[in-house]
Order: sequence, then structure tokens, then C-alpha cells
Amino acid sequence: MPYSLFGNKFTQHSGITELMDDLNEGVQGGDDILMLGGGNPAAIPEIQNRLQELMQQLLSEGKLINTLSNYDGPQGKNTFIDALVELFNDLYDWKLTAQNIMLTNGSQNAFFYLFNLLAGDFSDDKNKKILFPLAPEYIGYADASVSEDAFVAQRPKITELADGFFKYNVDFDALKVTEDIGAICVSRPTNPTGNVLTDDEINHLDRLAKKNNIPLIIDNAYGTPFPNIIFENATPFWNANTILCLSLSKFGLPGARCGIVIAKPEIIKAMSSLSGITALSPGGIGPEIVLPLVKSKEIIQLSNEVIKPFYQGKANKAITLLQSKITIPEFKIHKAEGALFLWLWFKELPISSNELYKLLKSKGLLIVSGHYFFPGLDQNWQHTQECIRVNYAQDDKVVEQGITILADTINELYANK
Ligand code: PLP
Repeated sequence: MPYSLFGNKFTQHSGITELMDDLNEGVQGGDDILMLGGGNPAAIPEIQNRLQELMQQLLSEGKLINTLSNYDGPQGKNTFIDALVELFNDLYDWKLTAQNIMLTNGSQNAFFYLFNLLAGDFSDDKNKKILFPLAPEYIGYADASVSEDAFVAQRPKITELADGFFKYNVDFDALKVTEDIGAICVSRPTNPTGNVLTDDEINHLDRLAKKNNIPLIIDNAYGTPFPNIIFENATPFWNANTILCLSLSKFGLPGARCGIVIAKPEIIKAMSSLSGITALSPGGIGPEIVLPLVKSKEIIQLSNEVIKPFYQGKANKAITLLQSKITIPEFKIHKAEGALFLWLWFKELPISSNELYKLLKSKGLLIVSGHYFFPGLDQNWQHTQECIRVNYAQDDKVVEQGITILADTINELYANK
């Protein structure tokens, strides 16, 4: 059946769809598949028990059925938005009102709205793009625009650090904000690399955005104040020119599909119109479950005292395993500053990262090929073919088995080079 241009664009092969298919296959495949691929957060018993308690309470108080039997408005559940306003104003000097916050069906949904509002074809025959100032960037941005050519990205500066680590920084000398840029967008911490943009980098990007009269989008899916999977000092950042996106997913509720956007009222209003047309309203179940945690600020305590140490411990374990098992000097790990992933760089990898992905998949291990994480960047750069992303959030046993397969494969590939 012929599809529209829109239909063709959204039915072609996309990295994020392959990733979500793999994730599903990995989950369905049970013990046969070692799932170090997708972005699923860990099942942390303390968090899951607390969420279960809250759900039982909602059920017995009749609030669960109440939430499920009613639509919210297109901006999302008011009680949750009000509680978030209070939480953020208590924590930071942002002076938010309910007009500054909206909810979406996951933050992925918010990026679709944002990218299509701020980039694409404009009525004056101009075409605007979203600028990713620090590639590699999140795979999920790659196809989230109805227009074909909506993204442009900048290669990073790479600094090699001691003990087999490296770090990306924004190359401000090379970064150009031309007049066809509609917004600047970064994830902080960054998926896939675990990089956290420094305060200086964020302030510099803010100045560039303001100077060019465009918004700075900060994707805070892993950041502060929740879920706070961030191992470096990083000051939370927002002002009226910033669009800050948060999510309940990495707190432990990816199935609730709840994203949170903080922006100036004009943007919230525009996005709420998109929400009304495409979704009627965002789901209310995640907001209802988490509402008591936001009101009491327990969400901050759980993030700081349970979630962050859990992931930090897991990251350290995975790094130790990787460094003890992969013995070649060409192997480097991006400094683990946050998020659920380790970004591994194999210099002069004898095959492409996608071929490595297929080889590992044939041995029962799922990882993600790094080449997907350069949306908007000319792939004619060897580095894009030399990296993979590994999710370290799964069971210790699964991570260890997966790393063993990876290490054996890599050591053999380099031995036969
Ligand atoms: N942003 C980043 C950086 C992510 O890694 C993800 C999911 O993995 C998302 C946004 C979207 O998450 P969700 O739609 O579950 O909020």
C-alpha cells in the first residue's frame, strides 16, 4: 500500500525502532539473551517496593480508579503540575508557575513536539534545524522530525585521560550557530556516553542560544533532582530561554510514559496544543503514583540515597570487569559521569561497530552499535564506527556474562588483525 511522505518517513528503518525491538526480544528471550542493549532502567527492589506500596494505597483510596476513569487536560494532571512547581521552587530559584510545566507521554513524546515546533519547514521558505553541539547524542532524536533534514551536529573534542578513560567536550572553536538553527539540544547526562556537560559548557551554550534568539533544550532524563543518576557535580540549570525535559522513566516507571517539560508559558501553550491534537491528554497514572513522593520530597531522597548509589556501584563493577577482561591497548572507556551506560571505544576496530553488534547478537549478547548516535553528523568519520554502548543496569550475572562474551570477541578480533 502506498503511504504518504510522512508515512514513508516514519516506516523506514530507524535505529530507535531496532533498539526497542531488540529490547523487547531481549526481554521476551529470557535467559537465552544477554540484554546489555536498550535503555531500560534497573529493577531496584527498594524503589519497586515503594512504588508498589503507593499503588496499593491508591487502589484502596479509590484514587487509582478515579485517575483511570478520567481524562486530564492536554497540559497534564494539574495536581502533579502544582506539586512539581512547589518542589522546583523550593529547590531552586526558578520562580515557576503552573504555566511553566506540562506533561507528555514520556519525554520522547516531548522531543517529537519540540523538534517539529522549532525545526523543519517554515512559511518564509526557510528550513531550520536542531543543533546537537556535542555528538555522540541520543539515538531517539535521530528520526523524530517530520522533515528530512532537521538535525545538524558538531564533533566533540576528545581528551584522553589516565587509566584507559577519555572524555568528550564541546568544541566551541568549531561550533557555529548559523541562522538556520532553530534550537540547540543536549542530553545531560548524555545517552549514550555517560558524559555530563560541565557548568561552563552549559553557561556557554546558554549564552550562544540567547545571542541567537533560540531556545536551549536540556534533556534531563537521567539528571537532577530525579532520578539523579549523575556522578559529577553539575548545577541544575533553567531560565526562561531553556526548555528542560525530565522523565519518570529512569526513576523506575518507563511503562507509565510520563515526561515533564519546564519552559516559558508560550512554549508550554504551543506544546499543549500539540498534545491535545495528537494525544488528547498525557496519561495520568504515573503522575498519580508519584504525586505523594513529590509532595513530600521523598523523590529527592530516593534518588540521592537509593538510585544514584545503585547505578554508581554498578558502573564501577562493570568498569572493573571490562578493564580486567579486555586486554588490548586500543580499548578506552568514556569517563562514567552519569546515565545507565558505558561508552566503549575500540580504536582501529577491525570491523565496523554494526558488524560487531551483529557478531555479538549471534552469540546471544545485545549491545547497541555506536554509529546510531551521531544524528546530524556526517558519518565520514572513523570514530563513528569504532564505539558501542553497553547498558550496565541489568543483573550482575547478566552483565558479567555479557562482558565476558564481549571481551573474548574483541580480544580475538584484535589478535587476528
Ligand atoms: N532522553 C534520553 C537521553 C533518553 O535516554 C531517553 C530514553 O532512554 C529519553 C529521552 C526518552 O525517555 P522517556 O520517553 O521514557 O521519558
